[in-house]
Amino acid sequence: MTPCSIEIDAICKRFGGHQALKSISLAVRAGEFVSILGPSGCGKSTLLRLIAGLDDPDSGDIRVSGNSMASVGPRDRGVAFVFQNYALYPHLSSYDNIAAPLVMRELNGFERLPGARMLPSVARKRRSIDDRVRAIAQMLQVDPWLTHKPGQLSGGQRQRIALGRALVREPRLFLLDEPFANLDAALRHQTRAELAALQKRLGTTTIFVTHDQSEAMAMSDRIAVMFDGTIRQVATPDELYRNPCDLDVARFLSQPRLTCMPAKVIVEGWVMIGGEHVALADANMPGAEGIAGFRPEHATLRPRGTQGALPGIVERIEHAGADVQVFVRLAMMDEPCIVRVGSQELSRWTPGTSCSVALDAASGWFFPRRPAETASTRIRTVEAA
Ligand code: ATP
Repeated sequence: MTPCSIEIDAICKRFGGHQALKSISLAVRAGEFVSILGPSGCGKSTLLRLIAGLDDPDSGDIRVSGNSMASVGPRDRGVAFVFQNYALYPHLSSYDNIAAPLVMRELNGFERLPGARMLPSVARKRRSIDDRVRAIAQMLQVDPWLTHKPGQLSGGQRQRIALGRALVREPRLFLLDEPFANLDAALRHQTRAELAALQKRLGTTTIFVTHDQSEAMAMSDRIAVMFDGTIRQVATPDELYRNPCDLDVARFLSQPRLTCMPAKVIVEGWVMIGGEHVALADANMPGAEGIAGFRPEHATLRPRGTQGALPGIVERIEHAGADVQVFVRLAMMDEPCIVRVGSQELSRWTPGTSCSVALDAASGWFFPRRPAETASTRIRTVEAA
């Protein structure tokens, strides 16, 4: 099926006293893979349900390839939807669950009868359906369970059958709501790579809801970051990571977390943090107060007394594969600052060691505090459409 473009235009949705979506606008190009990323409760699933036609917006419009969906029911939108809580037919085998959309679409009532399989035309159609079901089953590695019914499968296995049932339809629009929620870490990695590759091969326009930033970063052409019913930023994974539009987005895109320090701009390119002068290229508004934000990879550990670096004490160490995260207590901060170091350096930085944290002036950000608001916003680059 030809992939479609989606234009979401000023969509609002209220549940009782709660405004779940506050004038959301987003344009998704035909064939694009866009993730909706945000914390729990920010409105991601609500937005997806509106696109699918499972719920109606209070105001605003959703257009698919230029056509308003206002009076188009879910069945006629050409959409395949995989929910967090997928529903399989309990009385059918996994094979029949995956095949069901094709059987319904491609065989008439008579052709679905068991006896009709003898007819050459029906046998041909059945073979074609069988080929597609088995190809999808192989891709999702569910072939061993094709004869099992949903009640005999684990949550992760059921989720993959639900994914298979949606994929086999080759829809023009694919809506996925946390489809990997029940998979273990290894399977999650593998399935997301396979899904991303399959999406590229089929070219199906895809909107993927997740609260897992690494998942969104790994799979998407672009990511729309949502907070509290609004879209803050829409950008490619690389742009979003390097150039977050505000402190919330920077925090959400940082693993394990962003170090945030109260700072004041002294002169262009220099801030005062806890009585120390620290170089920060992004700080370009002399006199402005706000937050300096650094990711663990933007900081390095130096001996105590290094000029321009912040004095601290190593509090604890966490191993993270090839890297080690060193948590450093700085004088002016409630939370420890996290610094990523190579495991070969570990012996130098045992808990209790005095050290300095040097911040990479070119990589950190300065988020000026706006007087009338609590949020700290660095630049206004929220992309509306
Ligand atoms: P999660 O990641 O936890 O699934 P989400 O970002 O998908 O969260 P939504 O499920 O879209 O969030 O919910 C957004 C807000 O709207 C929440 O505060 C939720 O409680 C509320 N909400 C959603 N659906 C309904 C409903 N049918 N009735 C009342 N409130 C609802």
